[in-house]
This record gives sequence, C-alpha cells and structure tokens, in this order.
Amino acid sequence: MQKKLFKNCVYLIGAGPGDPGLITVRGRDLIARADVIVYDYLAAPQLLRHARSDAEIIYVGKQAGNHALPQDQINALLIEKARNNNTVVRLKGGDPFVFGRGGEEALELIEAGIAYEVIPGITASIAACAYAGIPVTHRDFASDFALITGHEDAGRTGDSQVDWASLGKWKGTLAFYMGVKNLPVILGRLAEHGMAADTPAALVHWGTTTRQRTLVGTVATLPELAIEHQFKPPSILVVGKVIQLRDRLSWFEKRPLFGKRIIVTRSRSQASDVVEQLGQLGADVLEFPTIRIEPPKDISPLQKAIDNLIQYHWIIFTSVNGVDAFFENLQKQNYDARRFGHAKVCAIGPATSERLKANGIRPDLIPPRFVAESVIEALTAVDDLKGKNILLPRADIARADLPETLKKLGADVDEVEAYRTVMDASPKEAALKAIAEDTVDWVTFTSSSTVRNFLSQVDKEKLTSKKIRLASIGPITSETIVKAGLNVDVEADEYTIPGLIDALCNASD
Ligand code: SAH
Repeated sequence: MQKKLFKNCVYLIGAGPGDPGLITVRGRDLIARADVIVYDYLAAPQLLRHARSDAEIIYVGKQAGNHALPQDQINALLIEKARNNNTVVRLKGGDPFVFGRGGEEALELIEAGIAYEVIPGITASIAACAYAGIPVTHRDFASDFALITGHEDAGRTGDSQVDWASLGKWKGTLAFYMGVKNLPVILGRLAEHGMAADTPAALVHWGTTTRQRTLVGTVATLPELAIEHQFKPPSILVVGKVIQLRDRLSWFEKRPLFGKRIIVTRSRSQASDVVEQLGQLGADVLEFPTIRIEPPKDISPLQKAIDNLIQYHWIIFTSVNGVDAFFENLQKQNYDARRFGHAKVCAIGPATSERLKANGIRPDLIPPRFVAESVIEALTAVDDLKGKNILLPRADIARADLPETLKKLGADVDEVEAYRTVMDASPKEAALKAIAEDTVDWVTFTSSSTVRNFLSQVDKEKLTSKKIRLASIGPITSETIVKAGLNVDVEADEYTIPGLIDALCNASD
C-alpha cells in the first residue's frame, strides 16, 4: 500500500548547503527510495550514494553562464518522469524555496496535476555563516536577518525589487545570494543608502565543504579584496556586525586538517573509516583504492587448519582481513568460536584485537608493537615456544620473518593463506586529476602493497613535486616507499590508522 503513496509524486528536496551530512533524515530516506533523481550543481554529489543502484540519476546542473538544462525542460522532465509512475526526487542545493526556483517548479507540477511535497533544507547563508563562525543573529549585534538576491540586473535601479533604501539602514545581518559578480554594485548601493563604510562584510565560498574559504573586509574594502583573493561563486556575501564574532567563533576552519587534500590508498572496503575520520578533521579526502581482498585460490589449507584448530597452542592473527577471512570460513564450516578450545590467541594491532572481540574471542596477547621482534618478545615472555603448534592465518604476500623466527625457537608453524590481496585497477579520475594539478597535500600508505600498486598506476615524476607529501603507517611500509626512490615525509609513531592520522595532524600544523 505504502508504495502507492510515493508513486507519481515529485519530492522537492533541499540537499543542504554542501556538507552531505546536512541533509534532513526525510530527504535522505526519500533519496534511498527514489526511482528517478534529478539533481543540481549545488547539491552534494555524495548524497547520490544513498540512491538505489537501479535509480535513474539525471544531472541538470546550473552553473553561472552554463545552463545544462533550461528551466522549462527541467519542469517537463519532472512531469514526464512522475507521469510514468515513478517516485521522483528533485534535489536542490540548500532549501528548494530559497532562491531555488522550487516555487516555480511546484506551480508547474500543480498545473500538470502532479502531486508534490517539499522537504526543506538548510539554506546556504545560515549554514555558510555557521561554519565560518558567524552567528546570523546575536542579542548584542543583530536582531534581524535578511536574505537577498544579489543577482538582480546590475544596471537596474528604478524598478529594482530590492528595497535598497531599507537595506542601507539595516542594523542586523544581511546575506546576499549569487552576489559575487555584483559585489561592488551591492556594497555601493548599501553605502549610498546610508550604511557606514566600515561595517564588516564577508564572503564565504563553498561554505560547509572542504573547499570553504572566508574573506573578511568592510563594505568599503571587500570588493577589492575579493578580486585580490579571486573569490568566485558559489559564495555568500554577509554584511553586519556579527562578523566580528568570527575571530572567536570560527571552528570549522580551525580543524587540524582543514583544507588539506589527502589521498587514501587502502582497499575500498577498508577505507571508509579512514575517510570518515579524516573528513571529520577537515580534510578533503580522495579515495584511490589500490588493493582488493579476495579469497585464496586454494581454500583447503585454511579449511583443514580450522578443522584441526584444537591442536594448536597459539593462533596468531596479523590483520583485520585475516580475522574476517578466518571467521567467514569458520562459519561456513559450521563451527563457532568454541572451536578455538584451549588455543591461545595473539592479535597484532588494536584493530585486529577489536575484530577478534567482535567475533567472541578475547585475545590472550597483544604485543605492544606490531613488528616481528616485538611479537616474538611478547610471546616468549609468556610461553616457551619449543614444540608448540602455531597457526598463522595470513595474506598471500605476508612477510617471512615472523614464521622463520618462530621456527628457529623450535615451534611448529603452520602458515595458511586466509586471503589474497590483488591490485585494484579501477579508474581513479578525481585523484589522478588532483595529482596532475599538484593540488594534493598528502598520500597515505597503510601497507607495502598500497605503495606498490599506487606507484604502478601513478607517474612517479608527479610525486616529486613540492606540495605532495607521503605518509606511511610504519617502518616496513616506509622501507617500500624508500626502495621505490621516494621520500617518506611522515611515519606514524604508533603503527595504526589512528597513529597515522595523528602523525598527519602533527605534520600539518
Ligand atoms: N537554494 C539555495 C540557493 C541557490 S542560489 C539555498 O537555499 O542555499 C545559489 C547561490 O547560493 C550561490 O550563488 C551562492 O550565493 C549560494 N550558495 C549555495 N551553496 C553555497 C555554499 N556552499 N557556499 C556559499 N554559498 C552558497
């Protein structure tokens, strides 16, 4: 029944100002349900990740001077798609009814007899100001706030719809949309109508996104500053005393990795936590997945080891991938965590340990450092390894030093392949373009294979530019970078993802 409610309907959804996290819950739910999504230049493209894989996604973006699809054709498209029994989402930047032509589209839909709903969004002025540390109202500085189009024909005076006389005397906050081109005209009019030349004025470019930039001046100085600093659309122009608070209230631009462009080379499945954390710290993250995790070509050694699990004294897990592959097979073979019996478990690295706990196994030993010597030291401190059966479920390309040392100490070691790392050669246009344009600040490497596979897809010459820096998770990865003839600019103190992120923050000050 519920389906019927949504068919033949157009949802005019505010996508919010740019940060994809600033859409409403209802907006996101409807994107996930839509058959057709018609979206704009200013709607964050990341929001399309919520869409169904079979949804039809149509870009009708409008960028100043470059109308991808004229408004009447957008209207016709919405009507046609809705009539064909689709749930149609019309996704617009900010709020659909604030300088978004949402009103015009809704009127056209009524005319055509199509049902519609409006899902408001956070409009750019409020959000860009909030992220720039400018409260649009404040009891001491601004009791009112006006939203104005800055797009009116610059030559138009007599028939202007904008009440310049009132705005010139405005005591609170003014926000102009689409005002970059007319900046001198807008501020000139305000001054003509009585606004003090030293009233603070600011531009916020691509507010709430990792590309945000803020420029502060006055009604008199901002136009020149804007040319000097090359401010372009989309930007919000704010005028008013509240701008003074920015010095103290700016938070977004003060985050440790703000404005840094970082390439993450982990496998796509593992990258999401890193991407999320770096994004929270203000970085503009580009994914460059270099590896994919696949099952081993021959799974039988792992299956056999699982069948015989009880005979092992120690099982050493060296990675989250190893744990995942192991438990996947454990379950496939109809066992559960009880299969471990009295075997002791060693986890290399906190993430590996956490994943084991999530599978019902609390590791007996977590060596303080994640290199072979430390593992051996920790193991020999708690057990005499002579004659002990040790299982090492690991990757196809794992290093040999750990099993070799264990064997030297008299242990009986079974190394079984639990997974394979293969190169991910999927296209990476955005990251490659950024490298070519030298706009990348950091490339992060979390294993030797990420280094090798990255370098096989990127021209090494491009990495020796001044800007780009390389960050490594630990000494083994660093060694691979150096062997490839490149410099390691930063190495994590603790060989973990949080350690790597800390190192980036410290080095980016
Ligand atoms: N419906 C939208 C406004 C569309 S008009 C809303 O409610 O926000 C387009 C103008 O919005 C741009 O010219 C710019 O002035 C402003 N704008 C939109 N997104 C912006 C952003 N992320 N940062 C700064 N200004 C933005």
